[in-house]
Amino acid sequence: MELDTIASISTPMGEGAIAIVRLSGNEAVEIADKLYKGKHRLSEVASHTINYGHIIDPSTDETIEEVMVAIMRAPRTYTREDIVEINCHGGIMTVNRVLELALTNGARLAEPGEFTKRAFLNGRIDLSQAEATMDFIRSKTDRASRVAMQQIEGRLSVLIKGLRQSILEILAQVEVNIDYPEYDDVEEATSSFLMSEAQKIETSISNLLNTANQGKILREGLSTVIVGKPNVGKSSMLNNLIQDNKAIVTEIAGTTRDVLEEYVNVRGVPLRLVDTAGIRETEDIVEKIGVERSREALKKADLILYVLNNNEVLTEEDYQLAEIIKNEDVIVIINKTDLETKLELEEVKTMVGDAPIVRTSMLSQQGIEELEEQIRTLFFAGEVSNQDMTYVSNARHISLLKHAQTSIQDAINAAQIGVPIDMIQIDLIKTWELLGEVIGESVDDGLIDQLFSQFCLGK
Ligand code: GDP
Ligand code: ZN
Repeated sequence: MELDTIASISTPMGEGAIAIVRLSGNEAVEIADKLYKGKHRLSEVASHTINYGHIIDPSTDETIEEVMVAIMRAPRTYTREDIVEINCHGGIMTVNRVLELALTNGARLAEPGEFTKRAFLNGRIDLSQAEATMDFIRSKTDRASRVAMQQIEGRLSVLIKGLRQSILEILAQVEVNIDYPEYDDVEEATSSFLMSEAQKIETSISNLLNTANQGKILREGLSTVIVGKPNVGKSSMLNNLIQDNKAIVTEIAGTTRDVLEEYVNVRGVPLRLVDTAGIRETEDIVEKIGVERSREALKKADLILYVLNNNEVLTEEDYQLAEIIKNEDVIVIINKTDLETKLELEEVKTMVGDAPIVRTSMLSQQGIEELEEQIRTLFFAGEVSNQDMTYVSNARHISLLKHAQTSIQDAINAAQIGVPIDMIQIDLIKTWELLGEVIGESVDDGLIDQLFSQFCLGK
């Protein structure tokens, strides 16, 4: 495929003062050479080398920046095209200047996600790998990165390919039946083979879908709200959680958040402590919760940390709060255990039902470990430590898998009520196609463009 040469600023993961201008395409090296002065011309250096030199403005001969230039020739590159990466350490101004020079000397500004799109179009990666790259770029925690990485390595693809293969085998069996309709036992054997195989496929899809929620949590963080009466220790708990755990910073330059949130990583569970500024400022949280909007926020939360004071008896306010959050995932924290116990544990249990209860003292830093362990247990039931698990976390994949699940279920139901087997074929083929879409094997161009335009610029 003959494509023009594209360029953009591709900011590396993590912090660091270095920014990269990346070019990809047939003329990448040629264009870079026009801007580069070094010991050798870039067109003469070996592939996969890093070269020290300077970027100059060819129209004025002005030196713009001291650089390291990586040369990677096709096909052993991310896009399977020639790639040049100009590593600049100056500020954003010089980086922009270098990009501008690349653009005025023959490159075109890359669209968001265009590098990854080329990797896909040139057959370097399949669609689910491309999407995993996007998720990887956006992922906020170590564990989320690992999940995204696993997808990049094709875990999901392998699984989906296996399921498609099984469907092909069923279809082959169905063909046999259609070819020899006169044999009743073939029909029967086919039908029972179909049902049991289709059931296995359904189970796999359903298992995958069950991981979706965890996948979402891993990427977006568990939206967590801290509630409790004034002075029970909510702010102290928040501060302890933040101090005790690496605060998660968004790694992508230019992403701004308008919602006030704090991210912390609690034993691999990314917590998005929602509107913590509000919690910090609004001491009368009960009054705040009286507002319908706050109730909505509580309903939307994945996790509610409900703080009580060990040094006080339960009050009407505590019961009101408990009533509001009774159907949510709640961890009850009995704080101030360093003070005299006035709170009746049995009464608390009656009030909160089967929500787990943790006793803490934020003052003397007791029970925080137990709280963290409880958070982990509640959401992952120990499963997340199993790194072999394949997650599905991408909204498009989830939607496709749900459809695939419906159509395989249709096939099973039809087989059960004795629908002619060649009719069932249609549902099987549909399932096969839907699964194919997950890995980009039956996607039309429009969808591809839409997908890749979601990518961050420079990837
Ligand atoms: P909030 O209003 O629920 O956010 O409560 P704060 O975190 O602001 O704490 C209210 C007061 O209780 C502060 O003076 C804290 O130092 C104190 N406090 C918080 N946790 C504990 C605890 O575990 N033991 C004791 N004795 N005091 C605490
Ligand atoms: Zn507070």
